[in-house]
Amino acid sequence: MSQNTNDFSKWYIDTIQKADLMDYTPVRGCIAFKPDGYELWEHIQAEMDKRFKETGHRNAYFPMLIPESFFQKEKDHIEGFSPELPWVTEAAGEKLDERLALRPTSETMIGHLYSDWIKSYRDLPVLINQWANVFRWEKKTLPFIRTSEFLWQEGHTAHVDEEDARKETMQMLTIYKEVVEGLLAIPVYDGQKTPLERFAGAIDTFSIEAMMKDGKAVQAGTSHYLGTKFAEAFDIKYLNKENKHEYVHTTSWGTSTRLIGSVIMVHGDEQGLVLPPRIAPTQVVLIPVGPWKKNPAIMEKLDEIFAALKALGIRVRLDDSDQSPGYKFNQWELKGVPVRIELGPRDLENNQGLMKARDEKDKISVPLESIVESIQKELETMQTRLFEKAKAFRAEHSHTHIDTMDQLEQYLADSEQNGNIPGWILAGWCGDDACEESIKEKTKFTTRNIPFNPPATKHTCLNCGNDSKHTVWFARAY
Ligand code: AMP
Repeated sequence: MSQNTNDFSKWYIDTIQKADLMDYTPVRGCIAFKPDGYELWEHIQAEMDKRFKETGHRNAYFPMLIPESFFQKEKDHIEGFSPELPWVTEAAGEKLDERLALRPTSETMIGHLYSDWIKSYRDLPVLINQWANVFRWEKKTLPFIRTSEFLWQEGHTAHVDEEDARKETMQMLTIYKEVVEGLLAIPVYDGQKTPLERFAGAIDTFSIEAMMKDGKAVQAGTSHYLGTKFAEAFDIKYLNKENKHEYVHTTSWGTSTRLIGSVIMVHGDEQGLVLPPRIAPTQVVLIPVGPWKKNPAIMEKLDEIFAALKALGIRVRLDDSDQSPGYKFNQWELKGVPVRIELGPRDLENNQGLMKARDEKDKISVPLESIVESIQKELETMQTRLFEKAKAFRAEHSHTHIDTMDQLEQYLADSEQNGNIPGWILAGWCGDDACEESIKEKTKFTTRNIPFNPPATKHTCLNCGNDSKHTVWFARAY
């Protein structure tokens, strides 16, 4: 698979179309999720939701339309979001007194309501999550990765003090890291965003960042400590144990259908989609081969395997359509199905089936008496293998030896000349916005995050050469 930027974009679009995950619509930047695409989201949703509930959160739902005046209350928030807001100005043929925004995120609506819901320290913490669609009228869109309407979850919590709110912010970032690594087999760096990359209205933003196969970064999830900024803007106060009014400290955190795009870009190969078993809509496909129609014993055996897998909760399909086996192999590969089993008359005679993992070259023969166990084991092994492959890829394209702009520019020129993808750079940063902006302007590399566990510590700023305050991941990003 070519990792050249243009070819990679083409590969990405081809892959999602051949896998039948989505379709474009006449509304710019708004895609339709087809069943296989939507099911990926359902698996992500199920795992996240489980983790949220285990940690005491409950789901609620808030309106999609937000009055303009709500946005005016928090100045950083409106500044950050106003260029991206779509507005409803008219309803039932009449102009509205106040414009309503299609929500880009719900801090304002929820802040307005929490000021009513929270009265005393006994009401805290409030731990609420919403599963919803949001709108951000993006200039450049790419299916799943950056769309104008997307599906997401947004957590909104309120706490008695900073300590409790910060604990929550970190807890949710850790859950994101565990789900993205464990379920999607995507390794991520967790860390803190720089002030320029912070969420509009946050005191601190933390993120998990993942490397795609073209070396670019994707911000895969964010968790924000909002301090008392929204509490002050919306007057969310509680009576403490001493009977004094105090502002609550709030957090918000979100992950979106961008995660689907990340899975495709991290695991895909020349043939297209490769899905980690834990989220694949179809985990195993059984295909009869050879003159199977003349030999009813083949379908009997496959039916038996099908039932046994199903009973174990494995998502299995039996493809007995009258297409040729070659056609079927190709179709199911394009869909990224993790494991394929082939069974023909000769295999049956030898008491074996052929098993092919989507990410491995060779088929292996497995004895029929233990085929169900072999499949089950392969699904687990493949999940781990994909994670390890992605980790190895990330290590190969992460550079920790570039310390000056001259070195970075030389590295970029060499990469271009050799046709190598530009990977990520771990470098020092003095903490000055101007240096960050200058790096971006010259190289299109942006700060991804200040990782909690950097593989090395840097001592001088990549741009100005002065002492560095932070060790930062820099990369081109989606
Ligand atoms: P935010 O509320 O800006 O922190 O966004 C939360 C998460 O939503 C981000 O970390 C992204 O992963 C994701 N996200 C932001 N904008 C988009 C978009 N236009 N399309 C898809 N996902 C997005």
